[in-house]
Amino acid sequence: MDIKKTLLSPEKLKPLYEDALQLKFGKMFTDYMFTLNYAEGKGWYGPEIKPYQPLALDPACAVFHYGQEIFEGQKAYKSKNNEILLFRPEENAARFNRSMKRMSMPEIPVEDFLYYETELIKLEERWIPTLKGTSLYIRPTGIATEPALGVKPSSEYLFFIILSPVGAYYSSGFKPCSLWVSTEYARAGEGGTGAAKAGGNYGGSLAATAEALRKGYNQVLWLDSKEHRFVEEVGAMNIFFVMDNKLVTPPLAGTILPGITRKSLLQLAKDLGIEPVERMISIDEVVDGISAGKVTEIFGAGTAAVISPVGKICFKDKEYVINNNETGPWAQKFF
Ligand SMILES: *Cc1c(COP(=O)(O)O)cnc(C)c1O
Repeated sequence: MDIKKTLLSPEKLKPLYEDALQLKFGKMFTDYMFTLNYAEGKGWYGPEIKPYQPLALDPACAVFHYGQEIFEGQKAYKSKNNEILLFRPEENAARFNRSMKRMSMPEIPVEDFLYYETELIKLEERWIPTLKGTSLYIRPTGIATEPALGVKPSSEYLFFIILSPVGAYYSSGFKPCSLWVSTEYARAGEGGTGAAKAGGNYGGSLAATAEALRKGYNQVLWLDSKEHRFVEEVGAMNIFFVMDNKLVTPPLAGTILPGITRKSLLQLAKDLGIEPVERMISIDEVVDGISAGKVTEIFGAGTAAVISPVGKICFKDKEYVINNNETGPWAQKFF
């Protein structure tokens, strides 16, 4: 589909950031956005690239009341030869559609998704930071826009893409984070929406995150909702353990977000000479393993931080320190 483009005259363009390394995550946005509409019976229509601007939406829109919303998170980088690189974008397009399907929203053909995204990014090339560790964060989003209060799938949708330049996650070097294990809250349940990047999953997680922060930890380590026993993942990262010289991560069983970084690490592990294992891990096995020196490294994996070493875990008011609260060799190697 041809994209209608409304372009700004050069003097109307925003000034670029001054120091890419100082950019905060998701605070600054580029000059343009992409939008695409959907109506039942008509399908997706009207692809547009236009100046970044607020959306005008009817307050009755389904997204505001029943949370029919899903999103993706990707990054564009500049290579040494000044080429624009995306990390496995077809995986994000496919996951976007799996999330859309789970939320009863219409899918967008993968090749259209990739075309729209790359057209926007090419236009916004000047915003892609070039310093090591920096990137242009990509946020494709789908929302239900039918103005109707009945609880049913919306008959209208809006798909949009916005872009945000982001600084290095580790501007002052690789620093391990700390996790607090929630034994009360759960992120996702069997049969629920945990495997979809649906906005509601994150809204529901904020109370536990606030508690983790109050207790002096960075993020929540989630356990399964049934027994509060098996490790699932972190807020926006999958979790990995180096145990007995194997790379262990919980299996994708519907309650865990199938991370593309996760999938990449499982593939890379074989090449790097560490056996990847997907199996259930109880929190007792983790803390006993830390105490016994069997768990030598823990790290999170996701687009935002790429690899996030874990230095401390708090479970039932007891703190466990991993690898002297320092970044381990496998975290470094995978990063
Ligand atoms: C996005 C996300 C991840 C990581 O997925 P990537 O594709 O690696 O970025 C992990 N867990 C949750 C809950 C997420 O939302």
